Amino acid sequence: KANRKFHPEDTVVDCGHGVKIGGGHFQVIAGPCSVEGKNLIKIARRVKAAGATMLRGGAYKPRTSPYAYQGMGPEGLDLLREAADELDMPIVTEIMDQRDVQTFLNKNIEVWQIGARNAQNFPLLKEVGKTKAPILLKRGMAGTIDELLMAAEYIMSEGNENVILCERGIRTFETRTRNTFDLNAVPVLHYLSHLPVVADPSHATGYTRYVEPMALAATAAGADGLEIEVHDDPSRAWSDGAQALTPDMFDQTMERIRQIRSVI
Ligand code: PEP
Ligand code: MN
Repeated sequence: KANRKFHPEDTVVDCGHGVKIGGGHFQVIAGPCSVEGKNLIKIARRVKAAGATMLRGGAYKPRTSPYAYQGMGPEGLDLLREAADELDMPIVTEIMDQRDVQTFLNKNIEVWQIGARNAQNFPLLKEVGKTKAPILLKRGMAGTIDELLMAAEYIMSEGNENVILCERGIRTFETRTRNTFDLNAVPVLHYLSHLPVVADPSHATGYTRYVEPMALAATAAGADGLEIEVHDDPSRAWSDGAQALTPDMFDQTMERIRQIRSVI
């Protein structure tokens, strides 16, 4: 179902609040790694003003250590809901457990992110496949492109064809960056599939200084969108501060993304 051979036209996914992605519709998803509390609305206003069209923030966090901050849970979803409704933006937030499907439905979460660590959690993929929610599906930590496409197939085979693919870097022998950003994946996924392709230069690089250049490269390579972490005070962020842009940096990055978009 994800294969372009049987579906030559690009799929356009409707994310709500009038935001469509794919087939020429380019969108930027921005916000903090984790929802932390009152700073969310401040960050959300800044990313919207800079031109982001969807608000991200994790309420359920897949942390390496069980002792690290695990996210605010349902209260985090409520804070996202308030901010997104004030700004008329769809939310993008991670679902880690199929037992949370009903909560996500009740809180009208627009776009459900499946994180890299759950890219082959087949029961979760099947469960979100039974809904109509747009799913932002990330590539696994060491997942191949074909494994990503088969994960999309798990969702689509249950009836939900609203899948957005996300390249977020893969684990390699390289240690200077958090992950190795596989920019090839953008044109390869477009060749193999009709689904929209988003790039996440924040998790792909792991360092603030590399986020803008890789955001621009992914835009030039034809990504249908970007997911970028932004925090008002990165040194105090509860997760992923080392890769966050400040709102001022994000303003500049958005301006440069528009410049690239105007010449491709
Ligand atoms: C995230 O988007 O905050 C996240 C945890 O991403 P990934 O699953 O790509 O590591
Ligand atoms: Mn993160």
